[in-house]
Amino acid sequence: MIGAGLAGCEAAWQLAERGISVELYEQKPHKKSPAHKADTFAELVCSNSLRAANVENAVGLLKEEMRRLGSLIMEAADACSVPAGGALAVDREGFSRHITQRIRNHPLIRVIEGEVTCLPAQEGGIVATGPLTEGAFFEEIQRRFAPKQMHFFDAAAPLIEADSINMSKAFRASRYGKGTADYLNCPMTEEEYLRFYEALVTAEVAPLHLQEERELTVFEGCMPVEVMAKRGPQTLCYGPLKPVGLTDPHTGKRPFAVVQLRQDDFAASLYNMVGFQTHLKFPEQKRVFSLIPGLENARFARYGQMHRNTYLVSPLLLDERYRLKEETCLYFAGQMTGVEGYVESAASGLCAGLHLARELRGMEAMTFPVTTALGALGSYIAHASAEDFQPMNINFGMMPPVQGRYKSKMEKNRVLAERSLSALAELLPQAVL
Ligand SMILES: Cc1cc2nc3c(=O)[nH]c(=O)nc-3n(C[C@H](O)[C@H](O)[C@H](O)COP(=O)(O)OP(=O)(O)OC[C@H]3O[C@@H](n4cnc5c(N)ncnc54)[C@H](O)[C@@H]3O)c2cc1C
Repeated sequence: MIGAGLAGCEAAWQLAERGISVELYEQKPHKKSPAHKADTFAELVCSNSLRAANVENAVGLLKEEMRRLGSLIMEAADACSVPAGGALAVDREGFSRHITQRIRNHPLIRVIEGEVTCLPAQEGGIVATGPLTEGAFFEEIQRRFAPKQMHFFDAAAPLIEADSINMSKAFRASRYGKGTADYLNCPMTEEEYLRFYEALVTAEVAPLHLQEERELTVFEGCMPVEVMAKRGPQTLCYGPLKPVGLTDPHTGKRPFAVVQLRQDDFAASLYNMVGFQTHLKFPEQKRVFSLIPGLENARFARYGQMHRNTYLVSPLLLDERYRLKEETCLYFAGQMTGVEGYVESAASGLCAGLHLARELRGMEAMTFPVTTALGALGSYIAHASAEDFQPMNINFGMMPPVQGRYKSKMEKNRVLAERSLSALAELLPQAVL
């Protein structure tokens, strides 16, 4: 097992829980990518949110399926959750620590610290080195799979120290007053917004290498806020800064725009700027984001950054079990397979670990049906069009539709979720072996 990230830890856990001895190679703490800061495993490199919690949302359903299959990542997420309205957000350090302890204490997992530079030669390996794979191992993958390997650029949002937020301007609320008031909201008048907007679109961006700049493509779901802003002055007001469902208690009115901050740790000492992935130079981030009311004197525990994101053109290489089509017993997992997001990466690790365990134990191969979120994700990476293949978040559009008329999208999604969970229940006795 190469890489103790979200996918690698989940895969190692699934193998070990099925009685397979695992050697887990991890380059930390000796070497870290520019986005990884902690020495612990399964580090969340940007947001602390694992997105929607309810099963009427596809990522909520995926999480529920993972729980039912004994996911270590979900065990840690549930143990380390912090308030986040309808989302499942976690204390990032506690989450990563929980997983590291469980992995290190498992009698069948041996952690080997050090950078791996070539693909495993032995029977039965999983590669989960993530989207920031670089150096000799990146070159080995390029050598073996080019041109069946691609990349785009991804960005992370800044983290702010809570006691530097001016609460005489910011206010605590959730949209439409739903659930508990988990977000801190920084309200803007039209004048304040336009001043911030002008500063944002004219701010200096950090330089990229020449070759990278020529190839620059960003993932829509993680677009830098300054790139989104350049689409037009109103774009942010319909995106991350939308004010709907929020009333400023200081004025009794709906603000023109709102920047939301989400709790990032148990102690509520850090807050994440929601939707503020950015590639501005660090001093520019301080200058521009300090124009947001409530953040005038904000201290940044971490600035936003942008990174290359590498993935395989999986439909040409992998089957729906994340196994190389033309190789004996070599699997891939995580974001590098073309799934997108923390949960999806962990889910692919769960599948790869489970399928490899079956293969090593000489058991019949099984596949999750496409009516399940796990099956739909595997089917996407194996059967999507290879031309212009892009990493994808889980969504109900990946599953076969249900017939009938429904009062609302919510009701339809509930039926899809029920169908999925009953298909999984039938498979469960086989899948847990
Ligand atoms: C900058 C950035 C921000 C992102 N933000 C979000 C977000 O907010 N929300 C979201 O849902 N998704 C986000 N993603 C996407 C994705 O969910 C994460 O990258 C996720 O961590 C992927 O999980 P993984 O297991 O595939 O890789 P990782 O979690 O990156 O794990 C890979 C592991 O392999 C190790 N490793 C790498 N190379 C080697 C080697 N040669 N030898 C040994 N060990 C090695 C690494 O040290 C690391 O521990 C982001 C991605 C990036 C790049």
